[in-house]
Amino acid sequence: MDSVDVLIVGAGHGGAQAAIALRQGKFAGSIMMIGDEPELPYERPPLSKDYLSQAKSFDRILIRPAAFWAERHVEMRLGQPVIAVDAAAHRVTLADNSTVSYEHLIWATGGRPRKLPCPGGDLAGVHAIRTRADVDRLMGELSGAQRIAVIGGGYIGLEAAAVLAKMGKTVTVFEALDRVLARVAGEPLSRFYEAEHRAHGVDVCLNARIEAIEGDGDRPIGVRMAGGEIIPADIVIVGIGILPAIEPLRAAGAACSNGVDVDAQCHTSLPDIFAIGDCAAHASRFADGQTIRLESVQNANDQATVVARTILGEAVEYEAVPWFWSNQYDLKLQTVGLSSGHDEALLRGDPANRSFSVIYLKGGRVIALDCVNAVKDYVQGRALVVGRLSPDRAQLTDVNVPLKSLAA
Ligand SMILES: Cc1cc2nc3c(=O)[nH]c(=O)nc-3n(C[C@H](O)[C@H](O)[C@H](O)COP(=O)(O)OP(=O)(O)OC[C@H]3O[C@@H](n4cnc5c(N)ncnc54)[C@H](O)[C@@H]3O)c2cc1C
Repeated sequence: MDSVDVLIVGAGHGGAQAAIALRQGKFAGSIMMIGDEPELPYERPPLSKDYLSQAKSFDRILIRPAAFWAERHVEMRLGQPVIAVDAAAHRVTLADNSTVSYEHLIWATGGRPRKLPCPGGDLAGVHAIRTRADVDRLMGELSGAQRIAVIGGGYIGLEAAAVLAKMGKTVTVFEALDRVLARVAGEPLSRFYEAEHRAHGVDVCLNARIEAIEGDGDRPIGVRMAGGEIIPADIVIVGIGILPAIEPLRAAGAACSNGVDVDAQCHTSLPDIFAIGDCAAHASRFADGQTIRLESVQNANDQATVVARTILGEAVEYEAVPWFWSNQYDLKLQTVGLSSGHDEALLRGDPANRSFSVIYLKGGRVIALDCVNAVKDYVQGRALVVGRLSPDRAQLTDVNVPLKSLAA
């Protein structure tokens, strides 16, 4: 049986950053990373952007080159999952029945794509976009396909739609709600992105009630709607969210809600076990103290750094302001703060100029900004979010008034 000082389960963004931050902090103990994907840690955001469009090869999206991990003595065990955790014995079991014992365990397993809960949802031509293998499989089918159905009008679905529309595919986005990005953004942003996609030839089907994916053998041929209409599709891409990959920890007795519950240092309820990234649920002051799970590179990296520093003996707490980005066509969206629960959405700038921001207020205080091709607003607006400031609305919406002048 192997024994290590720090065992990291999940070789993605959070896992990689935990190892990097430990070595940066001069941690001299042994580190092992176990990942169920066969690849070294790589960046996930390009999977629906530059990797899908083939603007970037896989080598260019590795978080660090192979030599980096070897030089820093981070042992990699890739290609198989941890299937059980024995918290009392400080030991995990892998799928091949081997075991590894640890002093500290960092659980960084992200999430698994939700499956389409309708007949035909498991046909071979129905794809998720979560891993390199998912996207390689999708790309392998693209040359023989023209009509693409994207189910889910969230960021990943819309990014994929943008790439595929630019490739000349006939793309339809199906969204169950009455606007795209409804769970993450305000109405002005949703309408703007809907219009952009339509302008690029993407059909956007809102309030979509999908009954089944029609197939011929194991290949999809169309999406059947509740009214019986069938919209032809050669490939179906499903982007309807993830479920946190936490079963071994839950089975070990960890307190779980919508993810593994963690405190301000990312401790779980089990001794010497931390959880970070997409799978961890934490109380956030940017969500009025509610327990939330964030799915962003920033959150995974910042929580990883907090855990590394905690292991190194520092007194730190996770309270980083959430931020996120999305690239679609020539639009760079940057988000700071969390807009859910806002009671006002102010428009700063004119969407017709393709450079504007939506400023979200709750009780008159700024809680988030969505900035489209408006990097200055994004950078300067951060202080408004962190301070939960309540500047004059007329000034907030006046593009001639720099946001930094309102944060003083
Ligand atoms: C297509 C796509 C586009 C995205 N775009 C953006 C973006 O533009 N901006 C942004 O901020 N965020 C984006 N995200 C989200 C971001 O990638 C995630 O928030 C981030 O990867 C979370 O890091 P993580 O370490 O928690 O999980 P991950 O990076 O998902 O890593 C978890 C790893 O653990 C593995 N694993 C799971 N269970 C086990 C187990 N039992 N044993 C061993 N290994 C296991 C998983 O297979 C995976 O390799 C995007 C995500 C996707 C999928």
